[in-house]
Amino acid sequence: MALIVHKYGGTSMGSTDRIRNVAKRVAKWARAGHQMVVVPSAMSGETNRLLGLAKELAPEKSNSAYERELDMLASTGEQASSALLAIALQAEGLQSVSYAGWQVPIRTDSAYTKARIESIDDTRVRADLEAGRVVIVTGFQGVDPQGNITTLGRGGSDTSAVAVAAAMKAQECLIYTDVDGVYTTDPRVVPEARRLQTVSFEEMLEMASMGSKVLQIRSVEFAGKYRVPLRVLSSFTPWDIDLGVEAKSGTLITFEEDEHMEQAVVSGIAFNRDEAKISVLGVPDRPGIAYQILGAVAQANIDVDVIIQNLSKDGKTDFSFTVNRGDYTKAIDLLRASVLPTLGATDVVGDTKICKVSIVGIGMRSHVGIASKMFGVLSEEGINIQMISTSEIKTSVVIDEKYMELAVRALHKAFDLDQAVA
Ligand code: ADP
Ligand code: ASP
Ligand code: MG
Repeated sequence: MALIVHKYGGTSMGSTDRIRNVAKRVAKWARAGHQMVVVPSAMSGETNRLLGLAKELAPEKSNSAYERELDMLASTGEQASSALLAIALQAEGLQSVSYAGWQVPIRTDSAYTKARIESIDDTRVRADLEAGRVVIVTGFQGVDPQGNITTLGRGGSDTSAVAVAAAMKAQECLIYTDVDGVYTTDPRVVPEARRLQTVSFEEMLEMASMGSKVLQIRSVEFAGKYRVPLRVLSSFTPWDIDLGVEAKSGTLITFEEDEHMEQAVVSGIAFNRDEAKISVLGVPDRPGIAYQILGAVAQANIDVDVIIQNLSKDGKTDFSFTVNRGDYTKAIDLLRASVLPTLGATDVVGDTKICKVSIVGIGMRSHVGIASKMFGVLSEEGINIQMISTSEIKTSVVIDEKYMELAVRALHKAFDLDQAVA
């Protein structure tokens, strides 16, 4: 008997029929003798619907009083789907109980809309499991030290599931979604994309952080930190398929490099439309500039991604970086109000119509010329590269948003990702 965590995404929970299907699948696992903790997302579209209502009443604001209410609001989506799943399981003849994040409790910091999990008390959940219940824990949410409900950022139910699996030392965390695994790139953009049988933890971390939304990045970080065995698989197979077959389907995230069966140099392509570029123009080129600009941005809890500082001319330079599109207005306002005057820069300008495309692969460590091949492919397509950033196992470029799909398809083909690896 093992303790297993299942996570079901929004599409998988998208209707009462689908919830019934999830309940039947979970019941199959429970009846096979496993202790089951299930972490559902809100029904598809629900989080957007709720946040849309807030926007109707007041435009997006970045103050904490408003963000507190957004979390209070958005967390109800998972509360509803969790209760529905518990009801469906009871209808299947199982004992089941659902808990909101604060009831577990899943403790987080107070960074509303992007809180981080700090600890999970598993006492209550464990007692229910011992009593033979299937326990449903809401995805996407927690509670801060003051008792306020927080949410973990979009796609955060993945992180809830992996964190619960880590806290409870589950044998495996299975992420059920609307694709049957992790692909070489988003199969919605490139139909020739191939499913990977295994993907190394490091590659998955890069792919997630470069924008592959199949797993939220923090869920991969948790899996790495606590060595949680993690698998991505489809919730759309018939619920009554053989459990042993189901348990080996999809994509396994591996921690040992020699477990990594596929030896391609580039394993996957990720893209992110959710970034915006900000440039501070005419910055006096002197020590401490990057710190002054990016320190202020970091203090406002805004993550910065690709950074470039241009060559200085006449003692002045331009300093550019990208941020999440949701943080764009906040970052621009902040720089105009506090940094521009003290820094003596000329202007702050921005562009939200950009995207970032990345090639990822641990094989890049031992092969040279991969980045230049990438630049060559983009140049052949006439795509201008605005920014570049690299790490040991990835190269990213920032380009005009309108060329994103073209770039991804061309790179997918050029790196033979549509071909099975021998
Ligand atoms: P869920 O609601 O189950 O959490 P998401 O929509 O968050 O599902 O994530 C699954 C989606 O991720 C897929 O439908 C697919 O379009 C997208 N995706 C992006 N990159 C990849 C990839 N490399 N492999 C598989 N799916 C990907
Ligand atoms: N419901 C949340 C969202 O839409 C969390 C999740 O789906 O993982 O982002
Ligand atoms: Mg998701």
